Amino acid sequence: MERPTIIRKTDSDLRVPPNLDNYEAQRRSFRWDNERRALQGLPGGGLNIAFEAVDRHAAGPLQDRSALRFVARNAPALDLSYGELALQTSRFANVLRELGVAKGEHLFVLMGRIPELYIAVLGALKAGVVVTPLFSAFGPEPIATRIKLGEGTVLVTSDALYRRKLAQWREQMPTLRHVLLIGEDGGPTHEAATRDLATCMAAVSDTFHIEQTAAEDPALLHFTSGTTGTPKGALHVHAAVMMHHASGRYALDLHPNDRYWCTADPGWVTGTSYGIIAPLLHGVSSLVDREEFDAERWYALLASERISVWYTAPTAIRMLMKSGLEAARRHAYPDLRFIASVGEPLNPEAVWWGKEALGLPIHDNWWQTETGGIMIANTPAFDIKPGSMGRPLPGIDACIVEHLEAEGEAPRVRIISEPNIEGELALRAGWPSMFRGYLHNEARYRKCFAGEFYLSGDLARRDADGYYWFVGRADDVIKSAGHLIGPFEVESVLMEHAAVAEAAAIGKPDPVLGEMVKAFVSLRTGFAWSETLRLEILALARKRLGAAIAPKEIAFLPSLPRTRSGKIMRRLLKARELGLPEGDTSTLEAGA
Ligand code: ATP
Ligand code: MG
Repeated sequence: MERPTIIRKTDSDLRVPPNLDNYEAQRRSFRWDNERRALQGLPGGGLNIAFEAVDRHAAGPLQDRSALRFVARNAPALDLSYGELALQTSRFANVLRELGVAKGEHLFVLMGRIPELYIAVLGALKAGVVVTPLFSAFGPEPIATRIKLGEGTVLVTSDALYRRKLAQWREQMPTLRHVLLIGEDGGPTHEAATRDLATCMAAVSDTFHIEQTAAEDPALLHFTSGTTGTPKGALHVHAAVMMHHASGRYALDLHPNDRYWCTADPGWVTGTSYGIIAPLLHGVSSLVDREEFDAERWYALLASERISVWYTAPTAIRMLMKSGLEAARRHAYPDLRFIASVGEPLNPEAVWWGKEALGLPIHDNWWQTETGGIMIANTPAFDIKPGSMGRPLPGIDACIVEHLEAEGEAPRVRIISEPNIEGELALRAGWPSMFRGYLHNEARYRKCFAGEFYLSGDLARRDADGYYWFVGRADDVIKSAGHLIGPFEVESVLMEHAAVAEAAAIGKPDPVLGEMVKAFVSLRTGFAWSETLRLEILALARKRLGAAIAPKEIAFLPSLPRTRSGKIMRRLLKARELGLPEGDTSTLEAGA
């Protein structure tokens, strides 16, 4: 179905006064110094993410407000107040001190979305220890590799995960000095060469003098999703808290009374920056669902938990779309006022689906592990152009650049100032949550910068209104008969067909065209693959894209391979299509 190209916003779309309402003026007046002053800072100077997120509130009127509300299928809901979170994180920090873990050492957490995860992450930050949350569904090898690469000295995990995945791998992680385990059903653990976390926590005080971390002290080490290759470790510092705060306010429009739900697992940067830090900075109550995706359950939670701001991902939205509108309409969402999405391009069809299913369009935003926080966003007050990622936030200067011939190693670029020209999306370096390095890969890090710009590796264009449009990752762009084809454009059209749930386009070598476009699709519930359907989708693509850009081949797959963070792995589809080695599949979702 062809839709309007713009969703106009009026005052009636706003339930609360938006934090960003005068885009130009707020961008002009924005200063990072002011953002720093909006935070409290450590007594005696210094900056610490966990202090701003937890202890600052615990000492004030938010003490008894629920900071994190954990829900699970077979357990009663558990609320951790800001006050309680401050005490528990202090205990954890004391455990680290008692063990002799020093500032700057690396701690890894590996567990489901249980309270201990949040306590360990924030407690370690209080102690000045650098944290990496790992996704609990990883297999032993990716876990061991990351701990080894990150020179992890402490691991916090559950008894069961340790036994299943790590006990036999311990020798592969020579830097690991301490393993803290969470016993099953709260009981103590008896694994050799480990400690029982609950016992350690009970033995220490719940007051802790927060480590005097400076803004530039390392805080978090996040691994990228591995969509385009081996995951890279991106290092972030405590100053990132300024970006978490600013983007929580502008991009997520957080207000004190919000009930907020970020569906990302903390094993990915979104789940940490926006599932832990940003909502706490704003003193809001967050929902944490311990269960895996389930369309019915998610709709019920949105309704019963009275969620007002929801941050999710295209892959989740596609799965919800796949399950049909009726499931969504079984509930009402009177409290929901803002929905945002990140992680992959959000097809226009998905933006509109939000309006039909939940009564609100989905607001796409863009950022990367490397940027540490949201850079480009659609926000409540402004019109949405479905298919566009929105506009740069206050404090962020984005532009489109083209590469010039490099002198030696360093890339050189020129800013493309005319609108609507495709090029690489670049950001003026210097925002506080910018990564400060790739772990053990200085050369790769340097390649990301050209003069004053950080080069994102994504291709995009900017329109005359300043909205950015994602074209594709530089690695995924298809070169066919002299055209540069972004897979997103092709996939968005395929998604317009009622039967198509997911689509991925790749370039396949072709003797005449250089590359031809091949697409893979999976279907919505209730549709079956047939030759007639294939021809129908092909005809739609030809009509909307023209013969030069439309796929020459369309193949059906029950589901598309994706990373555990939900990103379609086009490189894998390509490798399989061409019979090439699959490369690093450590983040590939099981069964894909
Ligand atoms: P790797 O760098 O290991 O290949 P990755 O790039 O997928 O993995 P992340 O840092 O998690 O790892 O993802 C950032 C990338 O996700 C962006 O560079 C972009 O390609 C894609 N992305 C994120 N948000 C959006 C969006 N709103 N629209 C389009 N693409 C997006
Ligand atoms: Mg990347």
